[in-house]
Amino acid sequence: MFRFSTIKDYHIALQNGQTTCVEAVRFYIDTIKANASLNAFIEIYEAEAIAKASALDAVCKAGAILQPLHGVIVGLKDVICYQDHPVTAASAMLNNFKSIYNATATQKLLDAGAIIIGRQNCDEFAMGSSNENSYYGPVKNAKDQERVSGGSSGGSAVAVQAGLCMISLGSDTGGSVRQPADFCGVIGIKPTYGRISRYGLIAYASSFDQIGIFAKTIEDAALTLEVIAGADDFDSTVSNKPVEKYSSLLDVQKKYRIAYFKEALEHPSLDKEIRAQTMALIEELKSEGHTVDAVDFELLDYVVPTYYVLTTAEASSNLSRFDGVKFGHRTKTKNIDLTEMYKASRSEGFGDEVKRRILLGTFVLSEGYFDAYFTKAQQVRRLLKNKTDELFAHYDAIISPTVPSPAFKIGEKSTDPIAMFLADIYTVYPNLVGIPAISIPLFTHSNAMPFGLQLMTKHFSETTLLQIADYLLHLKH
Ligand code: GLN
Repeated sequence: MFRFSTIKDYHIALQNGQTTCVEAVRFYIDTIKANASLNAFIEIYEAEAIAKASALDAVCKAGAILQPLHGVIVGLKDVICYQDHPVTAASAMLNNFKSIYNATATQKLLDAGAIIIGRQNCDEFAMGSSNENSYYGPVKNAKDQERVSGGSSGGSAVAVQAGLCMISLGSDTGGSVRQPADFCGVIGIKPTYGRISRYGLIAYASSFDQIGIFAKTIEDAALTLEVIAGADDFDSTVSNKPVEKYSSLLDVQKKYRIAYFKEALEHPSLDKEIRAQTMALIEELKSEGHTVDAVDFELLDYVVPTYYVLTTAEASSNLSRFDGVKFGHRTKTKNIDLTEMYKASRSEGFGDEVKRRILLGTFVLSEGYFDAYFTKAQQVRRLLKNKTDELFAHYDAIISPTVPSPAFKIGEKSTDPIAMFLADIYTVYPNLVGIPAISIPLFTHSNAMPFGLQLMTKHFSETTLLQIADYLLHLKH
């Protein structure tokens, strides 16, 4: 039977003739079908994945040097465009919508030899923390199907967790890669804002959005990142900084200077066991000779409100294009005027959470409230940025829990939006300031669910981020 450990080992097995890309694709298609109850994939591209695999097998057989992601089987969150394939943001609004071009990340995957196996379930327009806001229904956590996968990239996380593909791409505006990675016990990395092009990523909040990667090993996450990162003429916010060969820079022996936020570890919402296990890790790091200091983070209670003011404002603007005329679902109701047509189309097309965010965002941008909310939130964002620069003048990394609790039960928080928003308390900060962050699966809770540690480093220091992550995973496993 086909077995996957790392891309490197897979490539060795391909070159030795121990397996083929076709065998790999067949294995994953069977596994996806056998695990349909998880609801991780919305659609699989069976015939074309097999066709691409057999073309790649011919290249390998001819003895050619393999491309970096030759035959690597990847799933895409349903917000990342793949030419001539549907992309719906898990919304009725975009039912039957087909991408007319590839996202830059998709193009780079394809150019590097990857096989895209399907599109993955998520919260509608990437808004949510549990994948319960999807038009296609919730994604189930493979460790316990009564529990949520996390969100919004829940399908992408579960697909890697349950071995339904080798790598998934998700998107992370406030934690949507790291939080489900934490709940599912896999690696989830959100690089620096502007490291990966957002061209072809359906926008939620453009000054926060970033494509992220799910993988089982740091090596594979690093390799995928170096393939899809980098300059792009189609995204003016993407960085021209050269992309390092992250995957070949992992092996280092260093003593690190690490900070953690006192307020984060003392927060009343933090699960006791998560706190205890994180503190134990901090002690272990100290005994290994690293410097680990508690630092003040007085702004912690402001990060969630700041995040929700700014992202809903940006979302209300970004989602205005889905009006049944420019894009999206158009109402079938006849004999109504233009305003009624817009209203009906948007009311029918969007789900409740998306409507809530559009309303909130429109409110904070409205005349009379703009300064009290939007401007204020931008000021907090600046304070956070200053604080971050100050911290990284002294430290290599900041650590925190990824989420204050392990994966909760499906339905447990869906009627309480504030409780749901507060689950993002540790993950929104890196997006507010644009720094890279990763969740790594280090711990198990007494309820048997996995949970992770979040690591953050300064802008464009993905190399350090991945090095420390790799070191910690080796230390604990
Ligand atoms: N849970 C956060 C939200 O609902 C994060 C979403 C995301 O990162 N896309 O906004």
